Amino acid sequence: MEDSFSTAPSRRSLLLAGLIATAMTAAVLMILPDIDVPTALGGNLRPVQITALTVTNSIIAYLVLLQFYADHKLSNGLLSVAFGYSALMSGYLLINLPGVFSTSGGFPPGSRMAIWLWLARLGGTAFLILLAMLVLQRQQDRPLSKRVRCQALSLCVLAPLGLAWFAVAVLSRLVPDLDLLIKDNSDYSALTHSGIGAYLLASWFVALLSVLLVTRLRSAFHCWLALSCYSYLLYLITVCSSSIRYTVGWHASRFFELAAAGIMLGALLFEVLKLQTRLQHSYRQAYEASIHDSLTGLSSRRHFDAVLKMALQQQARHQAPLTLLMADIDFFKQYNDHFGHVEGDRCIQRIAACMAEQLRGGDTVARYGGEEFVAILQYCDLVQARQAAERFRAAVESLALPTPPGSLRPVVTVSVGLYCHPANRPATAGWLVEQADRSLYAAKRAGRNRIGSSETSPTAA
Ligand code: GH3
Ligand code: MG
Ligand code: MG
Repeated sequence: MEDSFSTAPSRRSLLLAGLIATAMTAAVLMILPDIDVPTALGGNLRPVQITALTVTNSIIAYLVLLQFYADHKLSNGLLSVAFGYSALMSGYLLINLPGVFSTSGGFPPGSRMAIWLWLARLGGTAFLILLAMLVLQRQQDRPLSKRVRCQALSLCVLAPLGLAWFAVAVLSRLVPDLDLLIKDNSDYSALTHSGIGAYLLASWFVALLSVLLVTRLRSAFHCWLALSCYSYLLYLITVCSSSIRYTVGWHASRFFELAAAGIMLGALLFEVLKLQTRLQHSYRQAYEASIHDSLTGLSSRRHFDAVLKMALQQQARHQAPLTLLMADIDFFKQYNDHFGHVEGDRCIQRIAACMAEQLRGGDTVARYGGEEFVAILQYCDLVQARQAAERFRAAVESLALPTPPGSLRPVVTVSVGLYCHPANRPATAGWLVEQADRSLYAAKRAGRNRIGSSETSPTAA
C-alpha cells in the first residue's frame, strides 16, 4: 500500500491550496500601499510569534521524521532536518529575547545576533529544502538500504542541533556587523537593500521552484510544502517592501511566516488522518475477505474454525446441545467433467445459497473445501438438526440442477453428515469435525442423497 505522503493530491486539496495561495497574494497586494503605516502593537507579540513558530516547526520536524522512520526516504529525512533546524534557530532567539528569560541583555531586535539568527534560519531552511529536493530527484526517492537506515535516522535527529550550533557558534563570527545596517528609528531598509533581502528572496524562490519542478505536485504532501515555500516567499516580499519595524507590513509579514508553518502542520495532520482512515478501510476490507469465501459468499474455513472454537466454549457455559452439519455434493466430479468448471462453480454457488436459505439466520454456514459445506447449529439437538438437514437436502433436490447423461440420478443431490455433541462432554473442534465427516461418509456409503449421523445409522430419504 502506498504511504500517505505519496498519495496524489485530490482535486479538492489542489483547489484549496490554490485558493489559499490566491488569498495570500491578494492580501499582500492589498496591504502594499499601507505597508509602512505604524501600528500600536509594537513588539509585544514578538515572543508569542516566535514561540508559535518554534513549536509549530518542531511538530512538523517530528511528524516528517516519523514519516522518514516509516518509509526510509532520505528526502523526508532532510525535510525533517530543515524544519528541525528552523525550530532550533527560532527557539534560540526566543530564549535570548529581552523580557523572556532575562530582563536586559540577550538579543534585542536589531542586534547583530538577532539579525544573524533571522538570516541563518531562513537561508539555511531554504537551502535544506533545496537539498531534499535534489536528493529526491537523484534517488527517485528509493528507500534507504537496511544497513544505513539507523545511521541516517540518528543523523536526522542530530543534524538540526549540529547545524544550529555551527550557525550560531561558528558562522556568526564570520559575518560582518549586520546591526550597522539598522538605524536607531528601527529603519531596516538598508539591511534588506544590502543584498541580504535579495539573497533570501532568491533562496526561497529556488526552494519553491525545486519543489515544483522535482515533485510536480504529484503528492499531497509536496503540494502543501510548495504552498508553505510560497508563504515564506510572500513573507520575505512583505519584509523587503516595508522598511520600518512594527508597521503594518512588519506584522503582516509575521503572519505569513506563521501561515507557512501552520499550512505545513495542518497538511501533515490531515495526511495522518487520511492515512488512518485508509488503514481502517483496508483493515475492514481485509477482515471481510478473510471471513468470507470469495466464490459463495458463505463464511470462510478460517472463520468457521474460529466460530466453532467459540461455540464449544459457549456450550460448556450454557449446557446446550451443539450440532455440526457437513454436506458434500454427490458425484460432483462427473458434473464438473461434463459441464466444465465454470458451470461447476455456478452449481456450488446455487447449493451454497440454498444451504444458507434453509438454515437459521444465526447459524454459521461455511464452505469447508471444494464442494463441501459445514454449518454450526448452536442450541440444536439431533432431532431439530435432522429436520434442518432434511429441509436442505430436499431443497437441493428441488433446485432440479440437471446431472450429466447416464448419471444415477436425474438431478444434483447432496449428502449430509450430522454430529450432535452433548453439552457435558469435553471435545476439541477438530474432533467434532471428524465425527461429522464420519457421518457424511456413512451417508455416502449408504447410497448418497441422504442424511447420516454418528449416533444413528444412515436413513434413506
Ligand atoms: P462423492 O459423491 O463421493 O462426493 O463424489 P464426488 O465426485 O463429488 O467426489 P468429491 O467430493 O471428491 O468431488 C470433488 C470434486 O469437486 C473434484 C473437483 O472436480 C470438484 N471441485 C472441487 N472444488 C471445486 C471448485 O472450487 N469448483 C469446481 N467447479 N469444482 C470443484
Ligand atoms: Mg462430492
Ligand atoms: Mg468432496
